[in-house]
This record gives sequence, structure tokens and C-alpha cells, in this order.
Amino acid sequence: MQTAAGKLMKVFLTRRIPPEGMKILSAAGICEVSQWDSDEPVQRADLLKGVQGAHGLLCLLSDKIDAEVLDAAGPNLKVISTLSVGYDHLAIDEIKKRGIRVGYTPDVLTDATAELTVALLLAAARRLPEGVEEVKNGGWSSWKPLWLCGYGLSGSTVGVIGLGRIGMAIAQRLMPFGVKRLLYSGRTAKDYAAEVNGEYVPLDTLVSESDFIVVSCSLTPETQGMCDKAFFSKMKNTGVFVNSSRGIVVNQEDLYAALSSGQIAAAGLDVTTPEPLPTNHPLLTLKNCVVLPHIGSATYSTRGIMGALSAQNLLGGLQGTDMPSELTF
Ligand code: NDP
Repeated sequence: MQTAAGKLMKVFLTRRIPPEGMKILSAAGICEVSQWDSDEPVQRADLLKGVQGAHGLLCLLSDKIDAEVLDAAGPNLKVISTLSVGYDHLAIDEIKKRGIRVGYTPDVLTDATAELTVALLLAAARRLPEGVEEVKNGGWSSWKPLWLCGYGLSGSTVGVIGLGRIGMAIAQRLMPFGVKRLLYSGRTAKDYAAEVNGEYVPLDTLVSESDFIVVSCSLTPETQGMCDKAFFSKMKNTGVFVNSSRGIVVNQEDLYAALSSGQIAAAGLDVTTPEPLPTNHPLLTLKNCVVLPHIGSATYSTRGIMGALSAQNLLGGLQGTDMPSELTF
């Protein structure tokens, strides 16, 4: 498709994306692609420059797309396609006001993220990184009855905060471990929760009754800072806390205090504030805190499918046709 002046439409990609996505964009033959050709994030100044005059923008969750970026892009901008299911990095009100369409990547990363969250829960609860370290540093002297004990899922109560696509997929994977009760909280009860015998409870009940708490909600003004001192003080001392949603849902100072004082047993975080977490961050000094570098959706196939979907969304927006996954707001 060409502009009124007979030129190809301009799109700006804020990063190298999986080849599956690039192939789709090239094959379409309707756009001229310029790209921040790196695996590292685009600097703000380069983003503001790169987006100038663009009809389409393909971005990542690390790019803050606000009024300044939209102004820099100018009136041509028809579509923003984000290579993520989370869209808290997009100034939705501003985007809506300007009639720009948004594509995102729900569903296709659900299984990978749920799988990683289960791995993280088990790693934190059964102290896997500590065990690996002891094998390497000679701390493994013999089989000892009370050494490196943790907490098991069998017979436990699991609380899922945000039983959405990913939360539900986590619950489905945890139930076969012999979980006794599956509690969940959120804005509304879900019919589909019956499949995992989910009990819809107030957040306070979930926090105080769960042995494992998994946070899988979206980041909103209500969920920002939700897991704070009051939250951790209601958890069991044997409780394990896992977050694979967004880092800022957690007050990390309060989490550090809860973990270091023995208020809670362990935590697993796939997401932090900031990202990357500075290597001298206090949380990284704790043996009972497992921190991963935001790799929830990081399987080769998932990233390829996300790349392809984000390219198709972009093309749909450019052509004014259906997008496979359009965010409705
Ligand atoms: P969904 O929209 O399907 O689920 C989000 C859930 O959050 C909904 O169930 C919603 O409940 C719940 N929620 C919203 N507000 C609240 C609240 N105040 N309290 C409790 N729950 C709330 O999204 P996905 O499951 O696809 O993704 C969820 C999030 O996971 C994404 O927004 C993203 O931030 C994160 N993510 C992280 C990844 C990683 O690599 N670690 C990978 C992919 C996603 P209700 O319907 O009742 O409003």
C-alpha cells in the first residue's frame, strides 16, 4: 500500500525482532522499514527521531510510548504494535484520543509464561539455586535430614492474584501437583475458574490463607504497589511469593524486609523495578529470593510467533483492515 504521494508507508521498529516478523513485513511490500538495529533498547532521542513521520510503530515493553513520542511521530501514525501482551508502557488515553489503533500479543505467550512461572515457584519453594550453588562451592558434605528443605505443593493452598489468561494457565499446571485449594482474586469472579475448582475470595483472605501466592494480574493504578508491607505481614511465615506480572506491583523494600526478617519464606520474581535490577540491589543478597531477568515468554517458538503476530498486527493497522489481535479500549 502506498501513501497518497505514491510512497511506501513508513514503519519504525524500536528493536531487532524475531526473523518470523521481519519476513512478514518484507513480503507484504507495503512498507519501508527502518529499525533500531540492536538487541539493546533504543535511546529516547533515537526513538523520537526514528518515529518521525512513521505510519506504523512496532515497539517493546521497554519503550515508553507517551504524548512526546506520539507528537514526534506526527499525524501519519495509524498503528502501534507492541511485542507484548502487557500494554502498561503505552499512554492509552493519548493514543485513543488520536485515533491510533493498537495491536498486542495475547494468548500466544500464555503457555510459555505459565510454564516459567511454575518453574520459578518450584525453584523458590524447593531452593533450587541454593542447591546448585552448594554443589559447586563444596557445601554439599553429605545427605542431611534437615538440609535445604523447602515447601511442597501437595496438599497446599495456592492463591492466584489475577486469574486471567496466564493466571488460569498457571492454575491448570499447578493443580496436578496435588494442590488442595485454589483461591483467586481480581475484579470479577470467573466462570471458567470451575475447571480448577477456583474459589473467588477477597484479596486479604487469599493472602492470609495461601501457602503459595502467584501474582499474574495486569499492571493498573490499582495493582501498582499492591504487594506492600501490609500485604506481606498478612502472609504465612511459611508462604512463598511469586511475581511474573510487572515489577512495580511489588514494593521491593517491603519485600526485602519480609524476606530478610523471616516474615515470609521465599520469593521468586521474573519481573523487577527497575529492569535490569542493579547487581548491587539488596534483594540479590538474599538466598531466599530467586530473581530471573523477565524471561516469561522466552521460548524460541513463542518469540517467533510473537514476532509474526506483531508484524501482522502492524500490517492490519497500516492497511485499515482487521488485526489478528487488536486491543480494544
Ligand atoms: P489478562 O488480561 O488475561 O489477565 C489479567 C488479569 O489481571 C485479569 O484476570 C484481571 O482480572 C486481573 N486484574 C486486573 N486488575 C486487578 C486487580 N486490581 N486485582 C487483581 N487482579 C486484577 O492478561 P494475561 O494473563 O495475558 O497477562 C497478565 C499480565 O502478565 C500482563 O499484563 C503482563 O503484565 C504480564 N506478563 C508477564 C510476562 C513475563 O514475561 N513475565 C509475559 C506476559 C505477560 P479481572 O478480569 O477480574 O479484571
